[in-house]
Amino acid sequence: MNIVVCLKQVPGTTEVKIDPQTNTLVREGIKNIINPFDTYALEEGVRLKERYGGKVTAISMGPAQAEEVLREAISTGADEAILLSDSAFAGSDTLATSYALTSAINKIQDYDLIICGRQTIDGDTGQVGPELAEMLGIPFVAYISKVEEIDNEHMIVKRMVEDGHEVIETPLPAVITVVKEINVPRLPSLRGLTKARNAVIPIWTARELGIDKNSVGLSGSPTRVIKIFFPQRAHHGEVLQGELENQVKSLIDKLRDAKLI
Ligand SMILES: Cc1cc2nc3c(=O)[nH]c(=O)nc-3n(C[C@H](O)[C@H](O)[C@H](O)COP(=O)(O)OP(=O)(O)OC[C@H]3O[C@@H](n4cnc5c(N)ncnc54)[C@H](O)[C@@H]3O)c2cc1C
Repeated sequence: MNIVVCLKQVPGTTEVKIDPQTNTLVREGIKNIINPFDTYALEEGVRLKERYGGKVTAISMGPAQAEEVLREAISTGADEAILLSDSAFAGSDTLATSYALTSAINKIQDYDLIICGRQTIDGDTGQVGPELAEMLGIPFVAYISKVEEIDNEHMIVKRMVEDGHEVIETPLPAVITVVKEINVPRLPSLRGLTKARNAVIPIWTARELGIDKNSVGLSGSPTRVIKIFFPQRAHHGEVLQGELENQVKSLIDKLRDAKLI
């Protein structure tokens, strides 16, 4: 079973600052980490490989420093890692990102399963998984919390939905996105750390991927970030006065008026 896991390097903080001039995230001085949801994707890939054989290839598109997350992936069980990096990729939106990742997966050729996190903690769109499946022309199942059964031709998975679970059977190859309930990611082993330190991680550029530079970066991105801002919090509190009974009645009237009950 050949598994490709998509990993994105993200700022390791929820207290993001935005540069008001450029409308981009201020990344200076912030430690980068593997997108937390992607650690579950990686762990699941490694567990499936350990059980059924094959290999796990971790891929990431990002600047040169994104190599760090790929070394981390090797230290926790990935067999190989590939970095997609090129100045032509800068400014890519989700469509252009998915296009570059799809080109890499097509270049890898021999794959049975592609695993992504459910979403990132910075871009947060959850679009890349489904876009990959669409571009590759293969099935997609989101929010997987358990792989029930898998062989070379199909898999049965449990996916989380708002009020319960669904069990879905899909042919392979397929793309899945996973939720954190699926497993507990392992820590790197000493052997893994040594392997990661010595690993040679190839860098695939747009040219090596056979990508027309107009299909990635800003020119290949149909969406534009016009403005990024923190929403103002409205603090409209009201303290009800009078006897408790009247307060309760008043509260019920207000909730009814607001159509909340
Ligand atoms: C107009 C525009 C301009 C942008 N410019 C920039 C920019 O200049 N620099 C910049 O860093 N970002 C930029 N972005 C953000 C960039 O498009 C997103 O980071 C990227 O498309 C992934 O989207 P997401 O973070 O919402 O991922 P999601 O769709 O939430 O991710 C789902 C899963 O897909 C996989 N995945 C997502 N991204 C990657 C990746 N890069 N490599 C491997 N796997 C991945 C992971 O498994 C992840 O869990 C821009 C976005 C827009 C809309």
